[in-house]
Amino acid sequence: HSKSNGKNGISAYEKSMGEANKERNTLALELSQSIKNGELEVYYQLQNDTHTRAITGVEALLRWNHPTRGIVSPAIFIPIAEENGFICEIGDWVLKQACKQASQWSVPIKVAVNVAPRQLTDRDLPKKVHAILLETGLSPSRLEIEITESGIIADTALALHSIRQLKALGVKLAMDDYGTGYSSLFTLQNFPFDKIKIDREFIKEINTNKQSSAIVQSTLILGDSLDIPILAEGVETEEHLQFLSKQGCQEVQGYLFGKPMPNSNLVKILDDQAAKENNVAKLNRKPA
Ligand code: C2E
Ligand code: MG
Ligand code: MG
Ligand code: MG
Repeated sequence: HSKSNGKNGISAYEKSMGEANKERNTLALELSQSIKNGELEVYYQLQNDTHTRAITGVEALLRWNHPTRGIVSPAIFIPIAEENGFICEIGDWVLKQACKQASQWSVPIKVAVNVAPRQLTDRDLPKKVHAILLETGLSPSRLEIEITESGIIADTALALHSIRQLKALGVKLAMDDYGTGYSSLFTLQNFPFDKIKIDREFIKEINTNKQSSAIVQSTLILGDSLDIPILAEGVETEEHLQFLSKQGCQEVQGYLFGKPMPNSNLVKILDDQAAKENNVAKLNRKPA
Protein backbone atom coordinates (compact mmCIF):
# COMPACT_ATOMS: atom_id res chain seq x y z
CA HIS A 1 0.00 0.00 0.00
CA SER A 2 1.35 3.39 -0.97
CA LYS A 3 0.92 6.35 1.31
CA SER A 4 -1.76 8.81 0.32
CA ASN A 5 0.03 12.10 0.26
CA GLY A 6 -1.61 13.84 -2.68
CA LYS A 7 -5.02 15.38 -3.15
CA ASN A 8 -8.07 13.12 -2.79
CA GLY A 9 -5.84 10.52 -1.16
CA ILE A 10 -4.09 9.67 -4.46
CA SER A 11 -0.31 9.35 -4.20
CA ALA A 12 2.09 10.68 -6.83
CA TYR A 13 2.93 7.06 -7.57
CA GLU A 14 -0.69 6.08 -8.15
CA LYS A 15 -1.18 9.17 -10.26
CA SER A 16 1.78 8.38 -12.50
CA MET A 17 0.65 4.74 -12.80
CA GLY A 18 -2.77 5.98 -13.82
CA GLU A 19 -1.21 8.19 -16.46
CA ALA A 20 1.00 5.38 -17.80
CA ASN A 21 -2.09 3.18 -18.17
CA LYS A 22 -3.99 5.94 -19.91
CA GLU A 23 -1.07 6.46 -22.29
CA ARG A 24 -0.96 2.72 -23.00
CA ASN A 25 -4.69 2.61 -23.68
CA THR A 26 -4.39 5.57 -26.05
CA LEU A 27 -1.53 3.86 -27.91
CA ALA A 28 -3.49 0.60 -28.06
CA LEU A 29 -6.48 2.36 -29.56
CA GLU A 30 -4.31 4.19 -32.11
CA LEU A 31 -2.44 0.98 -32.92
CA SER A 32 -5.71 -0.78 -33.72
CA GLN A 33 -6.24 1.83 -36.45
CA SER A 34 -2.63 1.88 -37.71
CA ILE A 35 -3.00 -0.69 -40.52
CA LYS A 36 -6.13 0.95 -41.87
CA ASN A 37 -4.39 4.37 -41.69
CA GLY A 38 -1.33 3.12 -43.55
CA GLU A 39 1.01 3.98 -40.67
CA LEU A 40 2.90 0.67 -40.55
CA GLU A 41 6.05 0.15 -42.58
CA VAL A 42 8.43 -2.79 -42.85
CA TYR A 43 12.12 -1.88 -42.55
CA TYR A 44 14.89 -4.31 -43.48
CA GLN A 45 18.27 -4.95 -41.91
CA LEU A 46 21.06 -6.70 -43.79
CA GLN A 47 22.46 -10.06 -42.80
CA ASN A 48 25.97 -10.76 -44.08
CA ASP A 49 28.31 -13.70 -44.50
CA THR A 50 30.98 -13.32 -41.81
CA HIS A 51 33.85 -14.27 -44.13
CA THR A 52 32.92 -12.87 -47.58
CA ARG A 53 30.72 -10.04 -46.22
CA ALA A 54 28.22 -10.81 -48.99
CA ILE A 55 24.55 -10.09 -48.25
CA THR A 56 22.82 -13.37 -47.40
CA GLY A 57 19.44 -12.04 -46.34
CA VAL A 58 17.54 -9.39 -44.42
CA GLU A 59 15.38 -9.29 -41.32
CA ALA A 60 12.01 -7.54 -41.59
CA LEU A 61 11.56 -5.12 -38.67
CA LEU A 62 8.28 -3.33 -38.22
CA ARG A 63 8.04 0.46 -37.79
CA TRP A 64 5.02 2.53 -36.80
CA ASN A 65 4.96 6.01 -38.29
CA HIS A 66 2.73 7.67 -35.72
CA PRO A 67 1.03 10.87 -36.95
CA THR A 68 2.16 12.95 -33.95
CA ARG A 69 4.78 10.91 -32.08
CA GLY A 70 6.93 10.10 -35.10
CA ILE A 71 8.43 6.63 -35.34
CA VAL A 72 7.42 4.44 -32.39
CA SER A 73 9.79 1.58 -31.51
CA PRO A 74 8.50 -2.00 -31.82
CA ALA A 75 9.95 -2.57 -28.35
CA ILE A 76 7.06 -0.36 -27.20
CA PHE A 77 4.17 -1.27 -29.50
CA ILE A 78 4.74 -5.01 -30.07
CA PRO A 79 4.11 -5.84 -26.38
CA ILE A 80 0.95 -3.70 -26.50
CA ALA A 81 -0.19 -5.53 -29.64
CA GLU A 82 0.52 -8.87 -27.95
CA GLU A 83 -1.58 -7.95 -24.93
CA ASN A 84 -4.50 -6.77 -27.03
CA GLY A 85 -4.42 -9.55 -29.58
CA PHE A 86 -3.80 -7.15 -32.52
CA ILE A 87 -0.51 -8.93 -32.97
CA CYS A 88 -2.12 -11.55 -35.22
CA GLU A 89 -3.55 -8.98 -37.60
CA ILE A 90 -0.32 -6.96 -37.56
CA GLY A 91 1.77 -10.11 -37.93
CA ASP A 92 -0.26 -11.28 -40.95
CA TRP A 93 0.22 -7.83 -42.50
CA VAL A 94 4.02 -7.96 -41.98
CA LEU A 95 4.25 -11.46 -43.49
CA LYS A 96 2.30 -10.39 -46.54
CA GLN A 97 4.17 -7.12 -47.03
CA ALA A 98 7.61 -8.72 -46.56
CA CYS A 99 6.87 -11.58 -48.97
CA LYS A 100 5.42 -9.20 -51.54
CA GLN A 101 8.42 -6.86 -51.42
CA ALA A 102 10.95 -9.73 -51.33
CA SER A 103 9.36 -11.25 -54.43
CA GLN A 104 10.21 -8.02 -56.29
CA TRP A 105 13.88 -7.68 -55.27
CA SER A 106 16.50 -8.00 -58.01
CA VAL A 107 18.62 -10.42 -55.96
CA PRO A 108 16.88 -13.49 -54.48
CA ILE A 109 18.07 -13.13 -50.88
CA LYS A 110 16.23 -14.54 -47.87
CA VAL A 111 13.76 -12.54 -45.79
CA ALA A 112 13.40 -13.30 -42.08
CA VAL A 113 10.11 -12.36 -40.41
CA ASN A 114 9.51 -12.27 -36.64
CA VAL A 115 6.50 -14.33 -35.61
CA ALA A 116 4.99 -13.59 -32.20
CA PRO A 117 3.94 -16.24 -29.67
CA ARG A 118 0.24 -15.62 -30.32
CA GLN A 119 0.65 -16.08 -34.06
CA LEU A 120 2.24 -19.48 -33.47
CA THR A 121 -0.86 -20.66 -31.67
CA ASP A 122 -3.10 -19.40 -34.48
CA ARG A 123 -4.16 -22.68 -36.08
CA ASP A 124 -4.59 -20.94 -39.44
CA LEU A 125 -1.01 -19.61 -39.60
CA PRO A 126 0.38 -22.33 -41.94
CA LYS A 127 -2.63 -21.93 -44.25
CA LYS A 128 -2.17 -18.14 -44.28
CA VAL A 129 1.55 -18.42 -45.03
CA HIS A 130 0.84 -20.90 -47.82
CA ALA A 131 -1.70 -18.50 -49.35
CA ILE A 132 0.76 -15.58 -49.13
CA LEU A 133 3.50 -17.61 -50.83
CA LEU A 134 1.16 -18.59 -53.66
CA GLU A 135 -0.14 -15.06 -54.06
CA THR A 136 3.28 -13.36 -54.07
CA GLY A 137 5.13 -16.14 -55.88
CA LEU A 138 7.96 -16.00 -53.33
CA SER A 139 9.91 -19.23 -53.19
CA PRO A 140 9.19 -20.81 -49.75
CA SER A 141 12.90 -21.37 -49.08
CA ARG A 142 13.44 -17.60 -49.19
CA LEU A 143 11.13 -17.08 -46.21
CA GLU A 144 12.55 -17.60 -42.73
CA ILE A 145 10.34 -17.46 -39.66
CA GLU A 146 12.02 -16.19 -36.48
CA ILE A 147 10.62 -17.44 -33.21
CA THR A 148 11.70 -16.86 -29.62
CA GLU A 149 11.60 -19.33 -26.78
CA SER A 150 8.79 -17.50 -25.03
CA GLY A 151 6.68 -18.08 -28.13
CA ILE A 152 7.06 -21.78 -27.80
CA ILE A 153 6.46 -22.18 -24.11
CA ALA A 154 2.82 -21.02 -24.24
CA ASP A 155 1.66 -24.23 -25.98
CA THR A 156 4.56 -26.38 -27.11
CA ALA A 157 2.46 -29.03 -28.85
CA LEU A 158 0.44 -26.55 -30.88
CA ALA A 159 3.51 -24.47 -31.75
CA LEU A 160 5.37 -27.58 -32.89
CA HIS A 161 2.40 -28.61 -35.02
CA SER A 162 2.36 -25.21 -36.78
CA ILE A 163 6.12 -25.26 -37.23
CA ARG A 164 6.05 -28.73 -38.82
CA GLN A 165 3.40 -27.60 -41.28
CA LEU A 166 5.42 -24.49 -42.15
CA LYS A 167 8.57 -26.56 -42.63
CA ALA A 168 6.63 -28.93 -44.88
CA LEU A 169 5.94 -25.93 -47.14
CA GLY A 170 9.71 -25.39 -47.41
CA VAL A 171 9.84 -22.37 -45.11
CA LYS A 172 12.97 -21.96 -42.91
CA LEU A 173 13.00 -21.62 -39.14
CA ALA A 174 15.32 -19.52 -36.98
CA MET A 175 15.64 -19.30 -33.21
CA ASP A 176 15.79 -15.62 -32.24
CA ASP A 177 17.50 -14.09 -29.19
CA TYR A 178 19.27 -17.35 -28.32
CA GLY A 179 20.41 -17.47 -24.71
CA THR A 180 17.96 -14.98 -23.25
CA GLY A 181 15.03 -17.35 -22.63
CA TYR A 182 14.89 -19.98 -19.95
CA SER A 183 14.63 -23.10 -22.07
CA SER A 184 17.03 -22.62 -24.99
CA LEU A 185 18.28 -26.19 -24.83
CA PHE A 186 14.82 -27.76 -24.52
CA THR A 187 13.70 -25.73 -27.51
CA LEU A 188 16.79 -26.66 -29.50
CA GLN A 189 16.22 -30.33 -28.76
CA ASN A 190 12.59 -30.27 -29.91
CA PHE A 191 12.31 -27.80 -32.79
CA PRO A 192 13.76 -28.20 -36.29
CA PHE A 193 15.80 -24.99 -36.51
CA ASP A 194 17.72 -24.01 -39.64
CA LYS A 195 19.52 -21.16 -37.89
CA ILE A 196 20.32 -19.90 -34.39
CA LYS A 197 20.60 -16.16 -33.75
CA ILE A 198 22.76 -15.33 -30.71
CA ASP A 199 21.29 -12.38 -28.84
CA ARG A 200 23.21 -9.13 -29.05
CA GLU A 201 23.65 -9.05 -25.25
CA PHE A 202 26.39 -11.67 -25.68
CA ILE A 203 28.06 -9.91 -28.62
CA LYS A 204 28.37 -6.42 -27.06
CA GLU A 205 31.45 -7.22 -24.94
CA ILE A 206 32.62 -10.27 -26.83
CA ASN A 207 36.19 -8.93 -27.11
CA THR A 208 36.60 -7.96 -23.46
CA ASN A 209 34.24 -10.04 -21.33
CA LYS A 210 35.25 -13.62 -20.52
CA GLN A 211 31.66 -14.73 -19.87
CA SER A 212 30.41 -13.35 -23.19
CA SER A 213 33.18 -14.87 -25.26
CA ALA A 214 32.83 -18.26 -23.52
CA ILE A 215 29.07 -18.32 -24.11
CA VAL A 216 29.47 -17.39 -27.77
CA GLN A 217 32.27 -19.88 -28.34
CA SER A 218 30.31 -22.74 -26.78
CA THR A 219 27.24 -21.81 -28.83
CA LEU A 220 29.35 -21.94 -32.01
CA ILE A 221 30.59 -25.42 -31.04
CA LEU A 222 26.99 -26.52 -30.35
CA GLY A 223 25.85 -25.17 -33.73
CA ASP A 224 28.72 -26.96 -35.42
CA SER A 225 27.84 -30.30 -33.79
CA LEU A 226 24.16 -29.90 -34.60
CA ASP A 227 24.92 -28.70 -38.14
CA ILE A 228 22.95 -25.51 -37.55
CA PRO A 229 24.54 -22.25 -38.74
CA ILE A 230 24.88 -19.46 -36.19
CA LEU A 231 24.14 -15.79 -36.80
CA ALA A 232 25.43 -13.18 -34.36
CA GLU A 233 23.09 -10.22 -33.70
CA GLY A 234 24.24 -6.72 -32.77
CA VAL A 235 27.58 -6.78 -34.58
CA GLU A 236 28.65 -3.14 -34.36
CA THR A 237 32.42 -3.12 -34.80
CA GLU A 238 35.22 -4.64 -36.89
CA GLU A 239 36.52 -6.14 -33.62
CA HIS A 240 33.23 -8.00 -33.14
CA LEU A 241 33.42 -9.25 -36.73
CA GLN A 242 37.08 -10.34 -36.41
CA PHE A 243 36.37 -12.36 -33.27
CA LEU A 244 33.32 -14.04 -34.80
CA SER A 245 35.13 -14.75 -38.05
CA LYS A 246 38.05 -16.40 -36.21
CA GLN A 247 35.65 -18.52 -34.16
CA GLY A 248 33.78 -19.78 -37.21
CA CYS A 249 30.49 -17.92 -36.91
CA GLN A 250 28.72 -18.08 -40.28
CA GLU A 251 26.57 -14.94 -40.40
CA VAL A 252 26.26 -11.52 -38.77
CA GLN A 253 23.65 -8.80 -38.48
CA GLY A 254 24.21 -5.37 -36.95
CA TYR A 255 24.98 -1.70 -37.31
CA LEU A 256 28.44 -2.50 -38.76
CA PHE A 257 26.71 -3.43 -42.02
CA GLY A 258 23.73 -1.12 -41.59
CA LYS A 259 20.73 -0.11 -39.55
CA PRO A 260 17.24 -1.25 -40.50
CA MET A 261 16.14 0.72 -43.60
CA PRO A 262 13.04 1.31 -45.72
CA ASN A 263 12.41 -1.03 -48.67
CA SER A 264 13.34 1.69 -51.19
CA ASN A 265 16.90 1.91 -49.76
CA LEU A 266 17.29 -1.86 -49.82
CA VAL A 267 16.06 -1.98 -53.42
CA LYS A 268 18.87 0.43 -54.42
CA ILE A 269 21.52 -1.66 -52.67
CA LEU A 270 20.28 -4.86 -54.33
CA ASP A 271 19.97 -3.20 -57.76
CA ASP A 272 23.60 -1.99 -57.48
CA GLN A 273 24.67 -5.49 -56.57
CA ALA A 274 22.71 -7.04 -59.44
CA ALA A 275 24.29 -4.53 -61.88
CA LYS A 276 27.81 -5.36 -60.63
CA GLU A 277 27.17 -9.10 -60.90
CA ASN A 278 25.88 -8.54 -64.40
CA ASN A 279 29.03 -6.59 -65.37
CA VAL A 280 31.29 -9.28 -63.95
CA ALA A 281 29.36 -11.90 -65.92
CA LYS A 282 29.77 -9.83 -69.12
CA LEU A 283 33.53 -9.37 -68.53
CA ASN A 284 33.92 -13.10 -67.99
CA ARG A 285 32.11 -13.83 -71.24
CA LYS A 286 34.47 -11.64 -73.32
CA PRO A 287 37.08 -13.63 -75.24
CA ALA A 288 40.68 -13.04 -74.00
P1 C2E B 1 14.77 -8.73 -32.79
O1 C2E B 1 13.92 -9.60 -33.64
O2 C2E B 1 15.78 -9.41 -31.94
O3 C2E B 1 15.46 -7.70 -33.79
C1 C2E B 1 16.75 -7.17 -33.66
C2 C2E B 1 16.72 -5.81 -33.01
O4 C2E B 1 18.05 -5.38 -32.77
C3 C2E B 1 16.10 -4.71 -33.90
O5 C2E B 1 15.46 -3.76 -33.04
C4 C2E B 1 17.33 -4.09 -34.54
O6 C2E B 1 17.13 -2.77 -34.99
C5 C2E B 1 18.28 -4.13 -33.38
N1 C2E B 1 19.69 -4.11 -33.83
C6 C2E B 1 20.19 -4.65 -34.94
N2 C2E B 1 21.53 -4.48 -35.02
C7 C2E B 1 21.89 -3.79 -33.92
C8 C2E B 1 23.15 -3.30 -33.44
O7 C2E B 1 24.21 -3.47 -34.04
N3 C2E B 1 23.13 -2.64 -32.25
C9 C2E B 1 21.96 -2.44 -31.54
N4 C2E B 1 22.04 -1.77 -30.41
N5 C2E B 1 20.76 -2.89 -31.98
C10 C2E B 1 20.73 -3.57 -33.16
P2 C2E B 1 14.01 -3.18 -33.37
O8 C2E B 1 13.85 -3.01 -34.84
O9 C2E B 1 13.81 -2.02 -32.47
O10 C2E B 1 13.05 -4.37 -32.93
C11 C2E B 1 12.99 -4.77 -31.59
C12 C2E B 1 12.23 -6.07 -31.44
O11 C2E B 1 10.85 -5.88 -31.78
C13 C2E B 1 12.71 -7.20 -32.35
O12 C2E B 1 13.86 -7.81 -31.82
C14 C2E B 1 11.49 -8.10 -32.35
O13 C2E B 1 11.48 -8.88 -31.18
C15 C2E B 1 10.35 -7.09 -32.27
N6 C2E B 1 9.80 -6.91 -33.64
C16 C2E B 1 10.18 -6.06 -34.62
N7 C2E B 1 9.39 -6.21 -35.73
C17 C2E B 1 8.50 -7.20 -35.43
C18 C2E B 1 7.43 -7.83 -36.16
O14 C2E B 1 7.15 -7.57 -37.33
N8 C2E B 1 6.73 -8.81 -35.48
C19 C2E B 1 7.03 -9.17 -34.19
N9 C2E B 1 6.30 -10.12 -33.60
N10 C2E B 1 8.04 -8.60 -33.50
C20 C2E B 1 8.77 -7.63 -34.11
MG1 MG C 1 14.23 -11.12 -34.85
MG1 MG D 1 16.86 -11.01 -31.93
MG1 MG E 1 15.16 -9.20 -29.50
